Amino acid sequence: MPTMVKDKPRTGCINPIFNCQPCGAQFASIGIKDCIALVHGGQGCCTFVRLMFAQHFKENFDIASSSLHEDAAVFGGTKRVIDGVKNLALRYPNLKVIPIITTCSTETIGDDIEACIVELDAWLQEEMPERDLKVIPIHTPSYKGSQAAGYNIAMEQLVKSLATLGEPSKKVNVFTGWVNPGDVRQLKHIFLEMGIPANFLMDTETFDSGIMPDKSSFAEGGTTIEDLTNSANAFASVAPYAYEGGLAAKYLESKFKVPSLVGTIPIGIEGTDKFLKQLSDLTGRRIPRTLVEERARAIDSIVDLGHMFLADKRVAIYGDPDLVIGLADFCIECGMKPVLLLLGDDVKAYKKDTRIQALSEKAEDDAIEVISNADLWELESRLKEGMELDLILGHSKGRFIAIDYQIPMVRVGFPVFDRAGLWKETVMGYKGAEFLANSMANAFFADMEYKKDREWILNVW
Ligand code: SF4
Repeated sequence: MPTMVKDKPRTGCINPIFNCQPCGAQFASIGIKDCIALVHGGQGCCTFVRLMFAQHFKENFDIASSSLHEDAAVFGGTKRVIDGVKNLALRYPNLKVIPIITTCSTETIGDDIEACIVELDAWLQEEMPERDLKVIPIHTPSYKGSQAAGYNIAMEQLVKSLATLGEPSKKVNVFTGWVNPGDVRQLKHIFLEMGIPANFLMDTETFDSGIMPDKSSFAEGGTTIEDLTNSANAFASVAPYAYEGGLAAKYLESKFKVPSLVGTIPIGIEGTDKFLKQLSDLTGRRIPRTLVEERARAIDSIVDLGHMFLADKRVAIYGDPDLVIGLADFCIECGMKPVLLLLGDDVKAYKKDTRIQALSEKAEDDAIEVISNADLWELESRLKEGMELDLILGHSKGRFIAIDYQIPMVRVGFPVFDRAGLWKETVMGYKGAEFLANSMANAFFADMEYKKDREWILNVW
């Protein structure tokens, strides 16, 4: 029987898994070079989000706010948008893109952002005719969807606003999704090894920034406005995470006839095999021996760990939908039992997602519960009711459940602020499979030692 998605059996939300839509739009925006987004709402709508980015990546990011107060709730806040964009344009002479990201309050007020942009374009034309500064509306009413939906909407809107037909290019657009710099590095590695020129949207590898000899250090997106403009001329688009970039890939397909591959998640051995095969079929490029050797090493690691330590372990996974699906698939591949998958929003498409439906077939007899619109209370209440779990896979906001119930936990997704350096790592590709298998095993090892539960095995395996 296919795995079915059920809604959380109660209204309200206790300890949400996700942030709101504007958070996702802000993540998409910081991936662009020479771009500062203006969040049109109360200051907290960008302050807390920016803090989370800083906590996760241990870097700083520029995001502006129209900083609404009570008067704007009554009289409207468009003046603050106009003033905010003008300030940014005047203070940052190199700025090329300013997305205006709406929030729950400004969508409710009904501020006419498009009219603001008409006025701002006229001002820019008059005051700075030499500047080519794009102001782009991104509507993210936060009372529906989530950070994943906000990211998807922002990617689509950025491409819609900037993609322009020109000379055909041999590049493949890669809509990375909401992933870590280590994942972007891994995707770049795959495309480089395959010999496929790629256009990364968004190139957030730069968020793993170093400290240069002159002591400068600043994380900034690596995708240029030209990369977004040229996305219309690409040979094809690839969006591994369907819910985070799929809309943009589909838009380019319908508007500019750029063929798209959406939703093949390169997590685990089988997922990566499928991803590489599709890339090979799309471009005619052979899968190189270097990647076959990486595959061999990953399989060897999983074989070393699978039977003794991973098999039959019961896992709960929560977070971004494509990540959760990919991780569940990989757990099944390792002989584990992903018994509970929690998706933190109520996207209707989950119920028809064939990738979710296929999980049960792979898991054979093991039941997999998938709950949409879920929160972390759902996980905690299951544990209170006696659900047995061996492992939790998810971001840092579930850490207290893992601590309270003494369940080993591997941090994946966003945000992760209670473990060092994980943004540098990848869960994608064969290297990601190896990293995940080792991380899960190491979590079990630490737990065995801490609980003095057959820890002697670690001396002899
Ligand atoms: S839910 Fe609304 S008020 Fe809260 S951060 Fe998101 S946009 Fe701002």
